[in-house]
Amino acid sequence: VLKTNQYDSLGTTERRIIDSALLECKLSGIALEGVNRARFSEIKQQLAKLEAQFNENVMDATQAFSLEITEKEKARLAGIPDSSVANFQRKAESKGKQGYLIGIDGPSFLAVMTHADDRELRAQIYKAFQTRATNQVEETTKFDNTPLMVEILTLKQELAQLLGFNNYSELSLAKKMANDTTVVVKFLEDLAARAKPIAVKDLSAITDWTKEKYPELFDNNDTLLPWDVAYYANKLKEERYQVSEQIVKEFFPVDKVLSGLFAVAERLYGITIKERSASGKDRVEVWHPDVKFYDIFNGDRLIAGFYLDLYARENKRGGAWMDECICRMQTAEGLQLPIAYLNCNSEPAVAGTALLTHTNVVTLFHEFGHGLHHMLTNVDYLTVSGINEVPWDAVELPSQFMEFFCWEEEGLKLISAHYQSGETLGEELLQNMLAARNFNAGIQAVRQIEFALFDFRLHMVTGNIDGDSIQAVLDQVRTEVAVIVPPEFVRFQNSFTHIFGGGYSAGYYSYKWAEVLAADAFSKFAEKGIFNRTTGDEFLQNILAVGGSRDLMEQFALFRGRAPSIDALLKYTGLSQ
Ligand code: ZN
Repeated sequence: VLKTNQYDSLGTTERRIIDSALLECKLSGIALEGVNRARFSEIKQQLAKLEAQFNENVMDATQAFSLEITEKEKARLAGIPDSSVANFQRKAESKGKQGYLIGIDGPSFLAVMTHADDRELRAQIYKAFQTRATNQVEETTKFDNTPLMVEILTLKQELAQLLGFNNYSELSLAKKMANDTTVVVKFLEDLAARAKPIAVKDLSAITDWTKEKYPELFDNNDTLLPWDVAYYANKLKEERYQVSEQIVKEFFPVDKVLSGLFAVAERLYGITIKERSASGKDRVEVWHPDVKFYDIFNGDRLIAGFYLDLYARENKRGGAWMDECICRMQTAEGLQLPIAYLNCNSEPAVAGTALLTHTNVVTLFHEFGHGLHHMLTNVDYLTVSGINEVPWDAVELPSQFMEFFCWEEEGLKLISAHYQSGETLGEELLQNMLAARNFNAGIQAVRQIEFALFDFRLHMVTGNIDGDSIQAVLDQVRTEVAVIVPPEFVRFQNSFTHIFGGGYSAGYYSYKWAEVLAADAFSKFAEKGIFNRTTGDEFLQNILAVGGSRDLMEQFALFRGRAPSIDALLKYTGLSQ
């Protein structure tokens, strides 16, 4: 038992560890007594079951649908990339059929919406996708998720109130960087207010272009239909910002990218990164010849290390990720230094040097940002060192922050050199890449904000809830935020697995929140010089080094001199007017 005066005499980090342990106890229901405690665990169990059922319904409803296209009708698949068509063919084969079966899994849906020339086909797939797990499709009403959504939301309300919160969104924020529901709502509303006019412009640009090229589409109406937008947007993008991945790739030979990445970290934080030799007595065992091990030094002092496993190969898990191998902590034997695993899946060299796509480069920087968060910590307690106890809505800040150096001329000078001529990637190519990245950014932003605001407001509702009231929350959000108003039959909410079947309830805003933090942090570098060492040190000391040992809202204000602002994100994604 710790007496109050003992607590007061502890340092900030120690108090923080105790505070979060106590909060964890509160949130896990340990403090509840009698009937409340029993009810709490009952709700927890029920929620786990209902959420799993929600996901299963989405999966079953998705699998229950497929559209058959016979070999004779193959013309209907025009425009769809070969790799997707091959998947449709494989799906038919697996069912013992000839021809093609189009499903409504994510990749198939996207391929048809973006590329299928056949408008009727797009409309069919759109409808099937948007009515998954609903009562709108006669054969599959048994997968309708509406009753589950009602039950899940009702139980979450009760859970939050048992723990002493006003609503579930409040409970969700208990362990996040954003500390107040009004802060999150206002944040999303502000973003929406700024992004919507741009989204309106985006949509009219696509509409005008389409009207000029395909006037026949606009016989009876003046607007594009929801299943037309992605398709014509893609056509317009191809016409305006054709950037060949192959050409860009030639500027990113792997050795240049790595030495450039390390140079960025060295300039920002004054550290040095050295590869450990593969032979000799201090060599480190690795699990594959492609894997390399690096040491990080601060002056002469070794402070961390990491494994880098860059290339795709058979039986390697896909995607890219940073993992903790060892965390920094004080042990009886002395200080244990942090070690990270960094994994990517870039294409290995075929002959000569491996070239990375720009997307590969951005991914590497992203994971390296997570790695630095883990490795540059100066906290000696395991529970809050590195990324431990860093709130969910802040954990992507260091990673997304690093991505900015791949989109800046000064950064590109360090990381690009044409594999034959040695030239750095030029201004013109960069401008095209930026334009392609920010194309349609308004429409994409309001879509994400729509999901986030719906999620957050829905979990603030108290009292009776039913299918209609869920729809009403969504309709209200759409009135405020959306520029593409979907047809009446659309029930997007019925397959929103992030919030009804996963851990994102009242947390979907985290995606945008982290983007805002990263852009705002980088904008300080843009103001002071992107390799300004003082700013680098401030970022290191206030954000990276403290791990989960401090309140990140306060830390961010220390670094930036004020609370986070959405302006930088809007600027960097082409959303400021
Ligand atoms: Zn990440």
